[in-house]
Amino acid sequence: MDNARFADQIQQGCRALGVTVGEDVPAKLHRLMGELLKWNAKVNLTAITAEDEVLEKHFLDSLAVLPEVEGAGSVLDVGAGAGFPGLPLKMARPSLAVTMVDAVGKKVGYLKAVVAVAGLGLTGTKAVHTRAEGKPDAEGLPRADRVIARAFMDLPDWLDLAPAYLAPGGHVVAMLGKALGEDELRAQAEKRGLTVVSARAYRLPFSGAERQVAAFAKRE
Ligand code: SAM
Repeated sequence: MDNARFADQIQQGCRALGVTVGEDVPAKLHRLMGELLKWNAKVNLTAITAEDEVLEKHFLDSLAVLPEVEGAGSVLDVGAGAGFPGLPLKMARPSLAVTMVDAVGKKVGYLKAVVAVAGLGLTGTKAVHTRAEGKPDAEGLPRADRVIARAFMDLPDWLDLAPAYLAPGGHVVAMLGKALGEDELRAQAEKRGLTVVSARAYRLPFSGAERQVAAFAKRE
């Protein structure tokens, strides 16, 4: 897909999702797609390889959670894999301190390489190779304002693990494929001394795939 059509689709998708990104972001994402697909030939990073699917299912799906990270200074992306949602979030909001962690060394090798590519706007983004088990100090992981994961764990396991990485006042963000009812979200939160800060369901703009994102905070 050429740069102009790709940029148009990103901006159209962002409008449909109700998020805004700078004019420079589509070109950076286009280059990131080139790196991802080049590396994917050698290292198994993603099963999604069609460009229009990378655009929607990786990039727009990551940018869709911008409302949940607005106002935060730092994000920890756990089980980041090929860098989703961490890399698009960093590109869209360059002032965010983003740390991505994954248990697979080859994936972290890719993340470190891509962060070092000049012109992608990823300078300062950290990629850490460790298994996240809820012990940030021992694991060399920071506490962050937003602790987020996509396609990593089911909600109960995620809510057991993620609060250990929260900075004071921070939110655990869960990206869910299947929408859960408010009662279910509240019950899962309450079991763990958390409250539901927000929850919203939406659809990806081109495929119509259903998504839900929910944010949780420690009870004061
Ligand atoms: N978040 C990415 C995405 O949505 O494209 C990757 C999702 S992939 C299905 C799950 C990732 O979590 C894998 O890359 C795996 O290596 C990583 N992972 C699994 N358990 C982990 C753990 N305890 N700590 C860190 N990474 C882990």
